[in-house]
Amino acid sequence: MRVEFVLRCTECNHENYRYAKNKKTHPDRMEVKKFCKNCGKQTMHKEKK
Ligand SMILES: [Zn+2]
Repeated sequence: MRVEFVLRCTECNHENYRYAKNKKTHPDRMEVKKFCKNCGKQTMHKEKK
């Protein structure tokens, strides 16, 4: 039951990361601080459905 998601920068809306997660163990929307190469700094990234 793995689903692919995209992590999107909340500042520039660039889609920087792709990952797969188990929907059963992680049903919530992810919010992680990651480096955005478009912004050139660490920003919050949110999961896009
Ligand atoms: Zn960005």
